[in-house]
Amino acid sequence: MSAQEKGKKQAVVIGAGVSGLSTAHALLEKGYTVRVIDRMNRPGGIISTERTPYGLVESAANACIASDRMEAISAQIGVPLLPLKKEARARYIWRETRPTRMPLTFREILDFIPRLIRFLFLKSFKPARVLPERRESVRNWGTRVLGAPITERLLLPALQGIYAGSSETLSANIIIGPLFHKKPKRKGRLKGSVAPQDGMGAWMIRWKEYLSSQGVEFQFGAEFKKEEIAQFPDTKFYFCGSLGETKKLIPGLPFEKAQTLTLSTVTIFYKPDPQYLKGFGVLFPEDSRFESLGVLFNDCTFPGRTDVRSETWIVGGIRGKQLVEKDSSEIISAVKGDRLRLLESLGIKGSLLEVEPLEIKFNRWKDAVPHCDLDLEAALQEKIELPPNLFLIGNYLGKLGMAKIVDYAFEVVGK
Ligand SMILES: Cc1cc2nc3c(=O)[nH]c(=O)nc-3n(C[C@H](O)[C@H](O)[C@H](O)COP(=O)(O)OP(=O)(O)OC[C@H]3O[C@@H](n4cnc5c(N)ncnc54)[C@H](O)[C@@H]3O)c2cc1C
Repeated sequence: MSAQEKGKKQAVVIGAGVSGLSTAHALLEKGYTVRVIDRMNRPGGIISTERTPYGLVESAANACIASDRMEAISAQIGVPLLPLKKEARARYIWRETRPTRMPLTFREILDFIPRLIRFLFLKSFKPARVLPERRESVRNWGTRVLGAPITERLLLPALQGIYAGSSETLSANIIIGPLFHKKPKRKGRLKGSVAPQDGMGAWMIRWKEYLSSQGVEFQFGAEFKKEEIAQFPDTKFYFCGSLGETKKLIPGLPFEKAQTLTLSTVTIFYKPDPQYLKGFGVLFPEDSRFESLGVLFNDCTFPGRTDVRSETWIVGGIRGKQLVEKDSSEIISAVKGDRLRLLESLGIKGSLLEVEPLEIKFNRWKDAVPHCDLDLEAALQEKIELPPNLFLIGNYLGKLGMAKIVDYAFEVVGK
């Protein structure tokens, strides 16, 4: 007897990236018969991991933020999540001529202390005074609440590194607003950034295998036709594509003005050397004149990723809009220029500056992430009109990180 005959509820998930897999997982737990369709020939969407002779290369996310749900899924699919290595605790931001762990001067720190006390007091007792206002930029919110030095030196560089957006228009409501939401007490044991030993792509493959073993049907290399939504009114359709793909499939949504950002990663392997900077990585603020948004030191982040020096340089977003469209060779050459500047700022001289890489791997994703700006905020405040059997899940709905996307998928299915 087929599932349909048994009277099980039917659902189709379009997209087998992290949004689609978490939606399929949530639907399975709710007792649906689930079919997942993706035009790619593998699960993971923009996330994949390449295993090279020198170590792992991630095409997009390198890690996710630990959450109870991520820990529960990791236990179910049998892929443990590892915490960061100790040496990754050092995180750097470029200031003037060098990377620094504390991009504020002693004077700026002293000036910030009373502002911080005031902020913490107001957040607890009069949150309306420090909550982001409607259509307020992060720069405006930061200057108003925390002061200009911390906003320019710490907040904006950190957020530009993560969101790749414009300092003028990043939305405080989307980015800062969630900090004011009451968080349920965590039960899990992990904190901060976590990742599976074999990389994020391996996690996606294992997740798909688990879902298949539980009866979820996967169709790869298949294009979804939106006519199906009207043809099968009793089936629920969950569209889990990127913002660009969603705009293409369903014109007329409030997201017309919202932009997507292209991002590129250049992972470079070198022979190890004690002179290299150790830590999570370095973020390069807008005024640093670096072409890259930041660099991750993969040999210092998670165990088992590589035995040599491995760096992932990230280019694109609003600042690197022009560069990221160029030939991979031009992007790699810009990254090499940035790298030379970073090494020289550390006082490294001689042959280490000229040493040839062991391997270079290039990835580029058009439409990789949404620009979390005031246009996206405006779109999210509008009512989204959809057919009653169609639901949207994706990183443009105000939840950019993987852990948040997964929680959101379970929330939507749970409704
Ligand atoms: C360089 C980079 C670094 C990042 N780092 C991090 C990080 O460290 N931590 C973190 O949490 N996040 C990170 N992110 C963000 C994170 O990777 C993404 O938000 C997330 O992977 C998006 O997943 P998704 O499933 O929503 O979309 P996608 O991965 O884009 O998947 C959508 C899928 O839908 C399919 N699809 C769409 N339309 C159709 C159709 N009509 N028919 C059939 N199939 C269709 C596509 O083929 C695709 O496989 C990073 C992103 C980038 C680019």
